[in-house]
Amino acid sequence: MIVMKFGGTSVGSAERINDVAQLVKSYQNSKPVVVTSAMTQITNQLEDMARLATTGNRKRVIAAKLAALKSAHNQAISGLGLEPSAEAALRAIIDDKTAKLGNILKSVTALGELTPRGRDLILSFGERLSIHLVAAALNAQGVPAVAINATDFLVTDDNFNDAQPLLTLSKKRAQKLLLPLIEKGTVPVITGFIGATRDGVTTTLGRGGSDFSGTILGYCLDAKEVWIWTDVDGVMTSDPRIVPAARTIDKMSYEEASELSYFGAKVIHPRTMIPTAELGIPIVIKNTMNPKHPGTHITPSGDTAAKGAKALTLMKDLAMITIQGKGMRGVQGTAARVFDTMAAAGVNVLFISQASSENNITIVVEKAAGHVATRTLRQAFATEVRAKRIDFVEYHGGVSLIAVVGTGMRQHVGMAGSIFSALGNGNVNVIAIAQGSSELNITIVVESKEDAKALLCIHDALYAAKGENS
Ligand code: ASP
Ligand code: MG
Repeated sequence: MIVMKFGGTSVGSAERINDVAQLVKSYQNSKPVVVTSAMTQITNQLEDMARLATTGNRKRVIAAKLAALKSAHNQAISGLGLEPSAEAALRAIIDDKTAKLGNILKSVTALGELTPRGRDLILSFGERLSIHLVAAALNAQGVPAVAINATDFLVTDDNFNDAQPLLTLSKKRAQKLLLPLIEKGTVPVITGFIGATRDGVTTTLGRGGSDFSGTILGYCLDAKEVWIWTDVDGVMTSDPRIVPAARTIDKMSYEEASELSYFGAKVIHPRTMIPTAELGIPIVIKNTMNPKHPGTHITPSGDTAAKGAKALTLMKDLAMITIQGKGMRGVQGTAARVFDTMAAAGVNVLFISQASSENNITIVVEKAAGHVATRTLRQAFATEVRAKRIDFVEYHGGVSLIAVVGTGMRQHVGMAGSIFSALGNGNVNVIAIAQGSSELNITIVVESKEDAKALLCIHDALYAAKGENS
């Protein structure tokens, strides 16, 4: 059995939904279980309507938006090639659901207030609608399919807007509900993104949560694999818009995938991998537009034979703060104080490095947090500055972080060396560098205006020579 998750663009129009149905049909023998997002942009529109409703006086605007949402679905239905009776049944479902949604929006408007619980209910409608279109398209192509709302089995805590699944309970319910269907050859088409509390109140797993629904289902059904269908050929060695030579990585480990997403690569959210990691179920990232391409396989051990780097990511436009002073030498706990101060200020530290001379500590944070970080650090170290143990706390905007990630970098001598020579040859100035103690990544700080050049130089040096992506 294979769980196949389709994102919003993959079900964004009649044409795309028909493609999805064709694709699922071609894998019918593997017992596919389908998880789908809302049609593209629909969740954003629902969020918009929910927000407007809280103003209490935008009834007409909301009604117009609701009509547009309904017509987007109806327009897609016209292109699914359904029998008249199936089409009428489907339109009735859309009528019914959008009418319910309209009533909920009216009550929010009357109250002028939206609870997290109410927001989840409103946002759940995108998937509540899309499953019916996908299931109908499958049936039209001769694949028996049934639309299923995940609230029927996926139990979560009541942390609305960002609920956590209760896996053991969900597993029991999922098996009971879904296995008999799968056994008789029916494809379940399940809402991504949503679940319900033990009491049956709708929750969501957080925006973009459909991938998570896919891996939760993989866990619950002990699937052979979970396939995340998207619009690129899997995870690339780097951003192809900047590095034309970037190519698909065929295998990577869970650890590498979470490291990459930490550094801003849109691989798959680390939380998403938890349910499948536990059972060692592979996650495959595949392209709906190019289904023949094998994509990227994320497995517990990845490519154990691979040497060197796996991928390069770029985080642009960050801020760097340097704490400089000879008096820091030998003083214990300076780095710890930097972290404590940042944690207290609610600033996430993306990078830290300390020169071995201990004359300075450099941190990199999101640009938006740069000034707060600088101000709080100046306050925290004011005594040291007065005592001249610290010379200054300096702010520097416009830097970028490049992370080179790969398990194969462990015990691999000369990685930092080749990166530095590549940058030297390319005339790129390296501002700071750090290596994670896991040796899974090397992170470099450069000026943002030089970041594309830096990325190209490193990619060239690490991959071009090898002619393979290991
Ligand atoms: N439809 C939801 C969202 O847009 C969930 C998803 O697409 O993953 O956030
Ligand atoms: Mg998505």
